Amino acid sequence: MKKSTILATIMLGALVASGVSAFVLLSPRRAWDSPPNIRIDNRGNPTVVNVSGRGRTQVLNAITSNAAWNGSGEGTVVRAFLGDVRGSRFRLGDNLPMLNFRDPINACNGSCLAAAFTGFFTPRSGTDRIDDSDIVTNPAVNYAVPGDACNGNEFRLEGVMVHEVGHVLGLGHTNVGGATMFPSVSACNNGPATTAGDDEAAIRNLY
Ligand SMILES: [Zn+2]
Repeated sequence: MKKSTILATIMLGALVASGVSAFVLLSPRRAWDSPPNIRIDNRGNPTVVNVSGRGRTQVLNAITSNAAWNGSGEGTVVRAFLGDVRGSRFRLGDNLPMLNFRDPINACNGSCLAAAFTGFFTPRSGTDRIDDSDIVTNPAVNYAVPGDACNGNEFRLEGVMVHEVGHVLGLGHTNVGGATMFPSVSACNNGPATTAGDDEAAIRNLY
């Protein structure tokens, strides 16, 4: 079965695993002061946009679902809306979190499915403040969206994006199999769309 990494995080530095089976937060520890409102476009990867933007609506629903981060027990920790991220609107570090179904920075190739930029935060005692985080998508990956039959060469879009939003919120990779923040996923597996106890513990620790 085809298997790919979901997700290099860029400008992250080394992730240090704790050695126990538990969540890992980005280092230095960082969180949003108020829930980021992620702008989602519908252009870019042709397998996402094939039916009148359906893919982005499904992604919006998935990343804000109570089955994902907003159901961790800390109330709403992420919001999203449909908008335009074309061209110069998409800039790293501009305090406008965006989800792009293309990769204008050419940062996500090969086995990378999507990537989140996590390098924009302000040092503060205790927990640093996240100022911005943007997501790009490998335009060469074949994604399946809800309503599609998924074949062995496709990846389920919602799960990949819920994982990326975990990075946006300040989470690193866990070594707990089956958790959303596990660093890889197999074709057609949408398990990461539903957070596991390990993921929820990370959110409750941070927020
Ligand atoms: Zn990742």
